[in-house]
Amino acid sequence: MGKKQFQSESKRLLELMVNSIYTHKEIFLREIISNASDAIDKLCYISLTDDKVGMSRDDFKITVETDSEARTITVTDNGIGMTAEELESNLGVIARSGSLQFKKEMESDKPEDVDIIGQFGVGFYSAFMVSSRVTVLSRAYGHGDAHKWESSGSDGYTVTRCDKDAPGTVIIMELKPDTEDEKYSEYLEEYTLHSIIKKYSDYIRWPIIADVTKSRQVETDEAGSDGKKKKTWEDYTEKAVINSRVPIWQRAKGEVSDADCAEFYKEKFFDMEDPAAVIRVSAEGTVSYNAMLFIPSKAPYDYYTREYKAGLQLYTSGVMIMEYCSDLLPEHFRFVRGVVDSPDVSLNISRELLQHDRQLRVMRANIEKKVKAELLKLMENDPEKYETFFKSFGAQLKYGIMNGYGINKDLLSELIMFYSSKAQKLVSLTQYVKDMPEEQKYIYYACGDSIQMLDKLPQAERVLRKEYAILYMTDSMDEFVVKTIGKFEEKEFRSVNDDELGLESEDEKKEAERRETENRELLDFIKDSLDGKVSAVKLSHKLQSHPVCLTTQGGVSLEMERYFASLQGEGPEGGVRAERVLEINAGHPIFETLKKRFSDDRDALARFARLLHGQALIFAGLPLDDPADFSDIICSLME
Ligand code: ADP
Repeated sequence: MGKKQFQSESKRLLELMVNSIYTHKEIFLREIISNASDAIDKLCYISLTDDKVGMSRDDFKITVETDSEARTITVTDNGIGMTAEELESNLGVIARSGSLQFKKEMESDKPEDVDIIGQFGVGFYSAFMVSSRVTVLSRAYGHGDAHKWESSGSDGYTVTRCDKDAPGTVIIMELKPDTEDEKYSEYLEEYTLHSIIKKYSDYIRWPIIADVTKSRQVETDEAGSDGKKKKTWEDYTEKAVINSRVPIWQRAKGEVSDADCAEFYKEKFFDMEDPAAVIRVSAEGTVSYNAMLFIPSKAPYDYYTREYKAGLQLYTSGVMIMEYCSDLLPEHFRFVRGVVDSPDVSLNISRELLQHDRQLRVMRANIEKKVKAELLKLMENDPEKYETFFKSFGAQLKYGIMNGYGINKDLLSELIMFYSSKAQKLVSLTQYVKDMPEEQKYIYYACGDSIQMLDKLPQAERVLRKEYAILYMTDSMDEFVVKTIGKFEEKEFRSVNDDELGLESEDEKKEAERRETENRELLDFIKDSLDGKVSAVKLSHKLQSHPVCLTTQGGVSLEMERYFASLQGEGPEGGVRAERVLEINAGHPIFETLKKRFSDDRDALARFARLLHGQALIFAGLPLDDPADFSDIICSLME
């Protein structure tokens, strides 16, 4: 019988497969096994209502056998099988929309992006990535005769009659010869084969049976010194079920312990530590799915790099269709690991299709809610664990708040924490507001390099004396985060640098204004002697025991200036610059000296001004502009 030609679309897809340089060719086995599983599903379904099938659930199985000499892998199922016509129509044309989509992607402008292959159900043809010849023997249920379909690639296929005594399908894949780069014969090795089955098809509900090599002790003919026969070890093979069949996430909650979940997590997601929390979802309704999600305790080493791949594993009825489905996870929760299994998601799903998939959006929204609820629960019930989690992933949550102009701030601001000057530990914003005394107007914060430094910040003194808590922000992005949040539970954030701290009475304010006017000339002189290093010099409302401090006016703070500089990799000169203000404490004894020098020795006053500015810089954790000048002035005072 002559060769038949593949339909043209199929032919091209086949050519792509035959010449594929895709690195995860192993997925061919997933595809073939998943077809076998579908075929069994179909016959099993018929058997429920039709006694003639003569099979019960326990009779169905998929076997995978290898023959090293013939270099073949054979996958056998006792499912529904195919008639001659079905062999032609199913294997001669592209049946899957996924395959078609895949082919288009491969032929598009970016053929180098071959990694997409794993994300498509590319189906039966994927066997040609590893095989030089594929033979399919099949007998359809309800038909007496069987047929053999055979092809060595894109040049066509043949269909002939053959013998087969029961319904089902046998797929024989003859592996390509090994090359420098590709060792196809590895698929014949027991270890490799089992790993591939476990990796991709572990949760196929039908048993996948393969040979397992074991060792046993046997007696030899030789006698030992004790007169008994000597023993030796010999290898033997036995058929065994390779897959675990019922995924842990499909089991009832009561059946699976926390320890089981933690074990599963560590093995599957390569973490040494137990997860901080496990979330189990079993949803029915618009979309049915089961999910088992994990919140890691600590960030993996590559978490904040490009290497980290976010996403949940997506399964449909036990078949893994995507290892990193990022569409299921909002960006701000990308640290979540886990598995989502939904019978409603089709196997031939492409990355693009996924993005528009309504079902996925429903799942994603639900997952987001669950993750947030779980994190709040953890914060409440196990603050220590939450803190560890937050130290790893707090930055992610903060980015989440800032991204998209704060679109997710309501969702995320309850989850972030800052160090509180009063509690001397991390507190949530909810906790901060709860602990605020009645008359406290604002949520106070101070930004700087370290808690130690912030604890001694001159301008924080008055707030601290009032016994109000200050949130110490030591991350460069923190200030942007609070600016994005704006208000939390109706309370505004206020930097301790801000002019209006809500601490003074009206009378006090008037008095301050009066003094400012009175000393205007002195302050202007100080400003001039600082040569443009500050935009203003004024009397401070904030200082208590310290003589000076450096604050800013306008929208850019010193921390922001530093942050922008770090982003642009250049000094503050080139980038966004904060408008600095030198604040002087009129209640400090030094102020009297300044006033005196203003009337009797302006040169000395100019030097003092530089000295005070230097002190303010040191308090702010900033380098001195001119350390030599600073040191000279101090020495001259010591003489
Ligand atoms: P898909 O499985 O997505 O339809 P494939 O290219 O993998 O695409 O397979 C094409 C068709 O061939 C299947 O739809 C199915 O009808 C048939 N088929 C493949 N493998 C088997 C099998 N083991 N038993 C019965 N039918 C099969």
